[in-house]
Amino acid sequence: KPCTVLVSACLLGHNVKYNGGNNDNSAVHAFLRDKQVIPVCPEVLSGMPVPRPPVELCKGRVINEKGMDLTAIYQKGVDRVIQQLRGKSVDLAVLKAKSPTCGNREIYDGTFSHHLVPGQGLLAAALTKLGIPVLNEKDVESLMNR
Ligand code: SF4
Repeated sequence: KPCTVLVSACLLGHNVKYNGGNNDNSAVHAFLRDKQVIPVCPEVLSGMPVPRPPVELCKGRVINEKGMDLTAIYQKGVDRVIQQLRGKSVDLAVLKAKSPTCGNREIYDGTFSHHLVPGQGLLAAALTKLGIPVLNEKDVESLMNR
């Protein structure tokens, strides 16, 4: 049975980023070639449009540059991803690094000044809680370059 991997849709070239672009990644494509892929963008699933204003995590809350708290909306998208996984066995997630939703180890600190701090985005945290390992595209690049 092939390994089933949940993947940030932007890493697959879907134009779902906050700025309307994507993070298409050839190492991720190569890594997934023999695997079953579930593409998701939790921010789009939350009902947010593309493009949308950037957000960051500040003390566990999702805020935009005006300081508006959007946690409930973004959490809904994460909950929808988790619902989609019900009944499926997911072996691994490959999520976009540094995103307030997808980031697996580092996130921006909520000051909108490009400053990274250790931490997980909302989806990465929810998957970790479920025991699903989360890699980012840099982890996959180093795996593929071994
Ligand atoms: Fe990519 Fe995740 Fe941001 Fe969606 S929420 S654009 S999948 S990093």
